[in-house]
Amino acid sequence: MSETIFSKIIRREIPAEILYQDDLVTAFRDIQPQAPVHILIVPNRQIPTADDIVPEDEAALGRMLRVAADLAREAGISQDGYRLMINCREHGGQEVFHLHLHLLGGCSLGPMLAR
Ligand code: 5GP
Repeated sequence: MSETIFSKIIRREIPAEILYQDDLVTAFRDIQPQAPVHILIVPNRQIPTADDIVPEDEAALGRMLRVAADLAREAGISQDGYRLMINCREHGGQEVFHLHLHLLGGCSLGPMLAR
């Protein structure tokens, strides 16, 4: 699968508000926030979808969750709570085919699914 805009953000070839980066993951603000806090946490290696995860990705996936919790705490939304979400393919509403964890919070997010 060809790379997406997220690979260019990870390599800092195009601008994004990067909040965290290490050898495995990068976190940056979503360009079209759906909540007062909307951060994307991505593996540096392009994993297209959740369906493409292999055992070697476990370290990056664990790091993504830990970084999400740290960023939520830094954003001051940990006490009230937040939502972590990964969309997969068409029915999941995935638009960018580089796996990403949405960290959403800063207000009550309502029911999990739009009906
Ligand atoms: P998906 O629907 O694939 O789960 O979510 C993709 C997310 O990436 C959307 O929330 C969208 O706003 C965000 N996004 C798409 N292109 C860019 C970009 O160039 N920069 C940033 N920061 N976010 C982007």
